[in-house]
Amino acid sequence: MYAENLADFESKLQRLFEEWKTRPLSVPENQFPADLLKALHAIGAFDALFSAEENGLGLCQTPTGGLTLVTLLRRTGSLNLALGRCLEGHVNVVRLVELYGTTSQRHALKLRLKEGSLAGIWVTDGNPAVTIVREGPSYRLSGIKGFASGIKQVSLALITATSEHGDAVMALVPTTRSERQRPGPGTLTGMQASGTGGYDFTGLQLSPEDLLGSAGDYLRQPEFSAGSWRGSAVALGGIDRLVDLLRQELLARGRADNPHQLARIGEALILQKTASMWVKEAAQAAYSTHMKSEDVTSVVNLARLAVERAALDLITLVQRSLGVSAFIKGNAVEQVMRDLATYLRQPAPDEALTEAASWFVHHDWPKTVP
Ligand SMILES: Cc1cc2nc3c(=O)[nH]c(=O)nc-3n(C[C@H](O)[C@H](O)[C@H](O)COP(=O)(O)OP(=O)(O)OC[C@H]3O[C@@H](n4cnc5c(N)ncnc54)[C@H](O)[C@@H]3O)c2cc1C
Repeated sequence: MYAENLADFESKLQRLFEEWKTRPLSVPENQFPADLLKALHAIGAFDALFSAEENGLGLCQTPTGGLTLVTLLRRTGSLNLALGRCLEGHVNVVRLVELYGTTSQRHALKLRLKEGSLAGIWVTDGNPAVTIVREGPSYRLSGIKGFASGIKQVSLALITATSEHGDAVMALVPTTRSERQRPGPGTLTGMQASGTGGYDFTGLQLSPEDLLGSAGDYLRQPEFSAGSWRGSAVALGGIDRLVDLLRQELLARGRADNPHQLARIGEALILQKTASMWVKEAAQAAYSTHMKSEDVTSVVNLARLAVERAALDLITLVQRSLGVSAFIKGNAVEQVMRDLATYLRQPAPDEALTEAASWFVHHDWPKTVP
């Protein structure tokens, strides 16, 4: 029955993808893709994230559910990278509440998200950084989150706040007050539709039930690093879209049979397939119950960098293949390249590479599937 339900969801997702993939990207480009969000909600993509006990499909819990989550994130990224980023954040919240929340927190989140609310994970600090202090039976927040995707759409955010002891504490906080919104990092050249801004939490009071897990849980491995496979899956969707646009434009201009263009198409397909194999391996590692924590984080970290490399190489190939047309505003390929290049700027890439390298200097590659 579970397998049937997953297959049914995947076919709904495929139908939605086929219907949406020919639609133009949003105009203006900073417009949040609310219609696509609604369409995903309508096919049950958000309910599917929850466990079977919560009437979901276990996309955040079971290895088979994880493979369906690869498809969901990849397809969404292909249709709209900005929505992919927001969905990825939403999934991260569901996963962390699943891992570290109490039964009542898990249930409350499910109820809260039922109406189609979007959750966000806002951990990157602004200036000043977010801190938390205890005040009698409650807590008080202070400071700003500086990179907050879906600033106008997210109604509940999982944030980190630094305690007096220097620990990262997780809290679930309502984020619907427009007067608390701040400009954030400035106008990004890509991913504008993700509505990434800042949010000021100064003076907000929380009760102990608003805190998630224990101090330090957010940075606990392997989850802290392993979760980045989901961002790679969204970026892979951007790669898919670029490969499609490359083929379409070369065909439309009657240039696809040229041997130089064919060579680049071949290379582009190799990059796409390479990224897809890495993402699958990373997802399997992230859901593994038998692997060592360091194996999981190292596999996922290398996957993240492999997908980043594939995307950057693909962008160069597309620019060479299409020429100036890849730089004309209004052409979908131009926007997807900007969105993808911006989205690839994820935290600590140097550390991810060198930490994985120093682990695998001493250890053989693990089996990600037992
Ligand atoms: C569109 C978009 C949406 C986002 N949405 C969210 C969100 O909703 N929530 C959220 O929390 N965050 C969000 N972020 C922020 C994101 O998670 C990263 O924190 C951010 O993109 C990292 O940016 P950066 O490349 O400037 O990082 P940096 O850390 O500045 O890294 C830049 C380079 O410097 C290196 N480096 C890092 N630290 C050091 C050091 N101490 N000394 C020397 N070199 C160093 C890095 O390895 C890298 O090579 C978003 C980002 C984007 C682009």
